Amino acid sequence: MKKNTFLLLFAAVFLFACKKSDVPGVPVDEVPIDTGYHYKSDYAYNLNVVYFVASDKTPNADYHRRISELMLQGQDFYGKWMKHWGFGDKSFGLMKDVVKKRIKIVEIKGKLDQSNYPYDGGAGAVLKEVDEYFAAHPTEKTSDHTLIIMCVKDIEADKAPFYGLGRNCFALDYPGMDIKDLGAATPEGIKATGWIGGLMHELGHGINLPHNGGQKSENAQFGTSLMGAGNSTYGKAPTYLTKADCAILNNNQVFSKVKKTDWYAPFNATINHLNAKFEGGNIVVSGRLSNAGSVNYINFYNDGNKNGIGGNKDYDAVPWSTQKIGVDSFYVSMPLSEFSNTEDYAYELRIMLCNENGSLMNVPYPYEIKNGIPVIDFGDKKEYSKTNWQVIDFSSEETVQEDGKVANLLDRNSTTAWVTRWNTNAPTFPHHFVVNMGQALVADGFTFTQRAGSSKIKDMQILTSNDNISWAVLGNYVLKDVGGPQFIYLPSPKTFKYFKVIVTSATDGRQYASLAEVSVFKN
Ligand code: ZN
Repeated sequence: MKKNTFLLLFAAVFLFACKKSDVPGVPVDEVPIDTGYHYKSDYAYNLNVVYFVASDKTPNADYHRRISELMLQGQDFYGKWMKHWGFGDKSFGLMKDVVKKRIKIVEIKGKLDQSNYPYDGGAGAVLKEVDEYFAAHPTEKTSDHTLIIMCVKDIEADKAPFYGLGRNCFALDYPGMDIKDLGAATPEGIKATGWIGGLMHELGHGINLPHNGGQKSENAQFGTSLMGAGNSTYGKAPTYLTKADCAILNNNQVFSKVKKTDWYAPFNATINHLNAKFEGGNIVVSGRLSNAGSVNYINFYNDGNKNGIGGNKDYDAVPWSTQKIGVDSFYVSMPLSEFSNTEDYAYELRIMLCNENGSLMNVPYPYEIKNGIPVIDFGDKKEYSKTNWQVIDFSSEETVQEDGKVANLLDRNSTTAWVTRWNTNAPTFPHHFVVNMGQALVADGFTFTQRAGSSKIKDMQILTSNDNISWAVLGNYVLKDVGGPQFIYLPSPKTFKYFKVIVTSATDGRQYASLAEVSVFKN
């Protein structure tokens, strides 16, 4: 693989300079020639910036200066908002030569031509070569986060990856893309704003940020959220990072000035108690965590189903962020007046636990706005303890390719789920499980907690029994295609010791079923 062209270029100049010693009377180093850049960083980790050039392309002229300048400006932008929201003087780390205003860019010459790195599905081929490069040059990899800038000639015709993918993200460099044009009302300016703003937005994904659109009053004051539609305003009109963004970045590896060994290791905090209500114009949510140890911030995203929920349909999510209270508690009051849109939609509140080691955990709760009023029904019910409950019969469970064991239904952890077997001999509907509660209990209803994943339960029947021999049908029910708890209210209290759930369809139309948790409550 080719190293940085500029280093080679300056190395060549240096060699040429040395040859002066061949000339009689001219000593070596008589004229000191600056041979290159001296990259340093205050950070313990630095964003890897890769310039990827397909085999049929040549690097765009002056890219080192152009990319350096826009990345340094981006570092200032991210740093400005970290400071604004009280997270101190920090941004993403970059290896940089402060005097010469250049950052270290790793140039990688692709093995294949551009047609092998298309927008759709081309990221894998690029990442494979980037990984190979870093495996061969381990000292050049300075963190787990990599921005890959694809060198293109025609920004419209050269379809190259342009999105975030885990801790990697892709952006494009076209000939002449320059920070000096940013925001100008010229063809170059419009182009630069779109693609440089796009780069900064994709970089956000590459350093763990989800989409979110900001609160109404913040948008009025600070402009457009970068992780909302801010890719089209960056450098042209006021653009900002939300506090929720900065709470995530505060724990990010490349924002850290200290080394740690447990970056992004999973953590096992769970939301143990949750109270939620709409009161005085505010959605008020409070709760307690178990194993809250290193969780420091809790983010709340209200994602309305105007254009869909989650994935790439959450640009309009309205965010809040709060510090953990004491050892294990949280509280937030979210005024409905801060929603830019309060039309009647289904909503998902995603509670995100932000852990000090950078790991994030999302726990979704469904609600809806009806006649302009939030209908909040996801707080705790008085659920019976499940300590002595057992699943005594079930159709299948996936335990080879994932931990989908049926016992996950009763472990009070909504991040683990029962998943029907799919690795081999995947059975189709109906799927079922039977729970023995150990004693006859009076129930007002059930809590079915959908997992945040595929093949959630759609159609199902619940049956009850007191002897596990004769069964009575309680009813047929339909669960919604949203993660988090959903409640089934019985028209009158029922007493039973056993219950059976028979699943006959999944929300995504596939043949499997999954469920995070099942509980019974008495109000
Ligand atoms: Zn995005």
